[in-house]
Amino acid sequence: MLVHRARLLSPSATLEVDALAKQYEEQGKPVINLTIGEPDFATPEHIGEAAYKGIKDGFTHYTATAGILPLRKGIAEKLKKDNNVSYDPSEIIVGVGTKQILYNAFQVLVEEGMEVVIPTPTWSTYVEQVKLALGKPVLIPLKPPFKLQAQDIEPYINAKTKVIIINSPSNPTGAVIEKEELVKIAKIAVEKNIYIVSDEIYEKLIYEGTHYSIASLGNGIKDHTITINGFSKSYAMTGWRIGYAAGPKEIIKAMTSFQGQTTSNTSSIAQIAGIAALEGTQEPLAMMKEEFEKRRNYLCGEFSKIDSVSFIPPSGAFYTFVGIQKLLKPGETATDWCNKLLNEKFVAVVPGEAFCTPKYFRLSFASSMDNLKVGVRRIKEFINRAK
Ligand code: PLP
Repeated sequence: MLVHRARLLSPSATLEVDALAKQYEEQGKPVINLTIGEPDFATPEHIGEAAYKGIKDGFTHYTATAGILPLRKGIAEKLKKDNNVSYDPSEIIVGVGTKQILYNAFQVLVEEGMEVVIPTPTWSTYVEQVKLALGKPVLIPLKPPFKLQAQDIEPYINAKTKVIIINSPSNPTGAVIEKEELVKIAKIAVEKNIYIVSDEIYEKLIYEGTHYSIASLGNGIKDHTITINGFSKSYAMTGWRIGYAAGPKEIIKAMTSFQGQTTSNTSSIAQIAGIAALEGTQEPLAMMKEEFEKRRNYLCGEFSKIDSVSFIPPSGAFYTFVGIQKLLKPGETATDWCNKLLNEKFVAVVPGEAFCTPKYFRLSFASSMDNLKVGVRRIKEFINRAK
């Protein structure tokens, strides 16, 4: 019999669609899979070369649990240069992807009886990880265009609130939080002694607006913030498993102890690759962003012409979150709708239930323009047929 903790986990709402998409692919059906949350580009060559050299040089053993010093120094420099916030390498931990880093953070910050405020639509991993820490996820339903404002949070804060999660640009909406709202949220956190977990993994993929790290805004907020970031999305390094957190020394130390008894350091080779990513040319990043932007603009043009869906142009990341309220029949869920789209048109998208926001679907444009064109054509045919 499984223990309570294991039973707390909700199965991913994407699994059903994913399993079916894979089944169809195996049967040779012309599946267009627009569920994927990873860049469809190769890791830039110089990063791979550095890792290869690391192997040849025998850099293939355990490292310091929190990551090698040159990498943590490089991250500190990056945070100063890009995000205007100063950290000592002892205030930085590198781990097995951002996901693992987030897990470590919740394990040391949250326990039974504590509440964690999560604006929705949200990446469901936050919700599940808070549950695994036995905390209570408090979901805040945002209204379109899903841009978080401080006033959305205020009614949900009480003496039990331990953490507020922010994710800008957001998965799944691409919304970017305005600077003035970040300043107000920072003020709330400092006044009420609440931590901010700020997941900034999509910061380099912004098409409209500007990214600000909340830790850089105003007095005292740095001591209340755990800034989370990683290499997966910016540098097309999802498989390397390398993410990091910067925050108050005591918290980073606790996360490091936690990591020391679970995964230990992330791969030594991935860490060498991380240094190359930070120190080397940033041109591949600009090239990827340019391509994502072209695709985003294409999708904006297409979806804004479809009256029966509600569509908000994403300001960042590589997802569009499309409202299908008008298309759902009585009793029909977004999951049902997405399953039908896949069954009839072989286009896979993720239903809104996966982001705590039913009646929407998420389409990833981390897929080639050709795929997107076919996908959009088939979605339009499906909508017109279903009318
Ligand atoms: N944070 C957000 C908002 C994400 O969307 C994802 C991946 O989809 C991650 C973190 C995980 O990144 P990593 O590959 O570094 O674990």
